Amino acid sequence: MDNSKEKRIIIAIDGYSSTGKSTMAKALARRIGYAYIDTGAMYRAVTLYCLDHGLIDGDKVDEAALQQQLPSIRITFGVDKADGHSVTMLNGRNVESEIRSMRVSGKVSLIAAIGFVRRHLVKQQQAMGRDKGIVMDGRDIGTAVFPDAELKVFVTASAETRARRRYDELRGKGDATVTYDEVLHNVTERDRIDTTRAESPLRQADDALVLDNSTMSIDKQNQWLLDHYRQAATK
Ligand code: C5P
Repeated sequence: MDNSKEKRIIIAIDGYSSTGKSTMAKALARRIGYAYIDTGAMYRAVTLYCLDHGLIDGDKVDEAALQQQLPSIRITFGVDKADGHSVTMLNGRNVESEIRSMRVSGKVSLIAAIGFVRRHLVKQQQAMGRDKGIVMDGRDIGTAVFPDAELKVFVTASAETRARRRYDELRGKGDATVTYDEVLHNVTERDRIDTTRAESPLRQADDALVLDNSTMSIDKQNQWLLDHYRQAATK
């Protein structure tokens, strides 16, 4: 590909839970040689830390203890030597599959609604995008992390479609106990908490392109994103 006329940009991909944002963001980053950051993984890693350290009791979070311990929670990204996939590390430990469990999914929106947690992670995310050339996905990338991103995409799909995809994924990974209804409830509950929280709630940026991928193949959405990337990078 002749990309000599393309400038390095920031690509912000936001949207509801389980819309396949990360699949398309990852594919684009690989294709154009950009870094890819899954910010949901960062909120999930903090949540796993809280669960493992007894900082969550039902719907209550020990915010004082979390605030004190937050600076010592180190989240990094590595590469799985076996398959070359990116993995999330929590204080040096590979937690990639643990952070995708229902145990973490059930509490992550609670943790992500805490202002000091958001400010802490947003600062790290902004540092990662300092040199541009990055694809970042999450809920507030186009609105709060990089409001000046050259390309913003807001991904949506029906709750049933999203729950079905996530359910198939969890089953495919060997979770034999999860039910479709449990996943659907989790997806809609996270949407509710994410859109109604006080601190940078999930919403579409005014200048975002909307993609409803309910009936779109993965190939088709990858092409759609690549086309928009080219337009934005050559503007
Ligand atoms: O993207 P993923 O579904 O893994 O994100 C998990 C949760 O993390 C979301 O439901 C949301 O509560 C939170 N999140 C967020 N802001 C982001 C990314 C994720 O609040 N930028």
